Amino acid sequence: MATKFSRQRQAIWDFIKDRTDHPTAEAVYLGVKSACPNISLGTVYRNLMLMRDTGMIRTVEVGDGVIHFDPNTTDHNHFICTNCGKVIDIDGGDVEAIKQEAAAHFTGRIQGYSAYFYGLCPDCTKSAATKTTE
Ligand SMILES: [Zn+2]
Ligand SMILES: [Zn+2]
Repeated sequence: MATKFSRQRQAIWDFIKDRTDHPTAEAVYLGVKSACPNISLGTVYRNLMLMRDTGMIRTVEVGDGVIHFDPNTTDHNHFICTNCGKVIDIDGGDVEAIKQEAAAHFTGRIQGYSAYFYGLCPDCTKSAATKTTE
């Protein structure tokens, strides 16, 4: 039982560890199904949440109602495309400075920061441009 559990967790980790597209639990499930045919979506979700709780991955919520998972646990900003729903990392932006700035105006204890940009991703910007030139 324990070995089966950790083998499934290993498959999930192998799938997600290098990804930059912030897959949902369902995308991870579809991705590991071939390696673990008996795995269920619920098991994938529970393992992902466990990995989040132990700090291996982080969750990203970008207002689309589903939880995305991100192996990049350092503070960074996200962009969501309002057309295709893609979640993209945005490098740059001093997250630490934003936290300090907020802390300067707040007497409680700030433990994290979450924000996202939205608009059209590069691909959708391109197809929007071709459409409007018709
Ligand atoms: Zn897009
Ligand atoms: Zn990210």
